[in-house]
Amino acid sequence: MIDDPRRQVPRTDTLLADPRLTDAGERLGRGLLKDVVQRVQQRVRDGEVAPPDAVDAVLAALPGTASSLQPVLNATGVLVHTNLGRAPLSPAAVAAVVAAAGTTDVELDLGTGRRGARGEGAIAALLAAVPAAEAALVVNNCAAALALVATALGQGPELVLARGELVEIGDGFRIPELLTATGARLREVGTTNRVTLADYRGALGPDTGAVLKVHPSNFVVRGFTRQVEVGELAAALAGTGVPLVADVGSGLLRPHPLLPDEPDLQSTLAAGADVVLASGDKLLGGPQAGLVLGRAEVVQRLRRHPMYRALRVDKTTLAALEATLRGPLPPVQEMLAADLDGLRARARALAGRLGAAGIDAVAADADARVGGGGAPEHPLPSAAVSLLPSFADPLRLGSPPVVGYVENDRTLLNLRSLPPSADDALAAAVLEVARRWT
Ligand SMILES: *Cc1c(COP(=O)(O)O)cnc(C)c1O
Repeated sequence: MIDDPRRQVPRTDTLLADPRLTDAGERLGRGLLKDVVQRVQQRVRDGEVAPPDAVDAVLAALPGTASSLQPVLNATGVLVHTNLGRAPLSPAAVAAVVAAAGTTDVELDLGTGRRGARGEGAIAALLAAVPAAEAALVVNNCAAALALVATALGQGPELVLARGELVEIGDGFRIPELLTATGARLREVGTTNRVTLADYRGALGPDTGAVLKVHPSNFVVRGFTRQVEVGELAAALAGTGVPLVADVGSGLLRPHPLLPDEPDLQSTLAAGADVVLASGDKLLGGPQAGLVLGRAEVVQRLRRHPMYRALRVDKTTLAALEATLRGPLPPVQEMLAADLDGLRARARALAGRLGAAGIDAVAADADARVGGGGAPEHPLPSAAVSLLPSFADPLRLGSPPVVGYVENDRTLLNLRSLPPSADDALAAAVLEVARRWT
């Protein structure tokens, strides 16, 4: 049959040679372009695309970049969402990543032409932000920081830690399993709900490599409970030479007025911890990283351990971390600080725009959360655009994808986890879903 679509499928060479696709070939690479071309040819064969529309279909199907990771609008109300890549970087951090992505002086002293200290600028920024620290180290993430501590301080000797702090952080990540996987020995003290200074004292001995305190980020124990604060523990360890390491998780540099129960790096060191550990991509608002700060002697021991080489970070992480610390407030901090009236005004404006297009949209109050294991008991007041529940799936499958959630039979698009600059894109995504339905 002459009009059999299979006979009219444009040839691969013809499509690849089309001038409208030249830019894409240069930007994304010929291999990727060819994959998309072949998928479109299949759609022509299947009768889904008319042969003259093949180039347009290729253009429409091309990804924005050569990576399959796509930007997503986070309307979950969870500011630091692990499944969505945790903290979005600030524009200053993004610019620093781009600048450092090529050849860069990460480990070269341009003044002398000799090898320099790796990531000096990021380390200096950390020390300026946390004056109680004498030295700092950056590794892949907080789990890597824990693994380094366990390897360097807990092998042969043992790590003493409270039973109530043997926590699972998320998705099967259990801190005690990580620690013992390095070959470290754990000495658990106290019970699930209570631990005393005497429990710690009873466990200390010639075999003690370090005492570890882990902030149970994502849960709280209430009722008949007792913990030993960093200050008490530090006083009891004074003169023993046993380092006190505190994993504070969230990465807050200093106390935050909105998160009174969240420990921070500066206060924990000031209270007497020898070393503190935290994530870079939670409340700090920077790239994925594990921050290790504290007494120079202990930090040096960790840096000199051979395992450090396997855990250190790359130039782009160092660039993003330094820019996060030195540059303007990162998005996570801005979202945390956003005032409720402003969020409600955004929700009303969005609902008004969508309503004018005939969409059932109303502004509603909602709770947001820090996420990433931080401040589990501390809902943040927020506002949302509330839509029919049937919006949730198509919004998530759209371009850009919008991830909200369904509650009480409504799709909620929570605005505290989105910068105001994303409101136009959010409205456009909802309008596009509605348009496809009608
Ligand atoms: C989140 C968290 C971790 C794990 O941090 P990553 O940076 O994801 O490796 C470890 N400890 C605590 C207390 C945490 O909150």
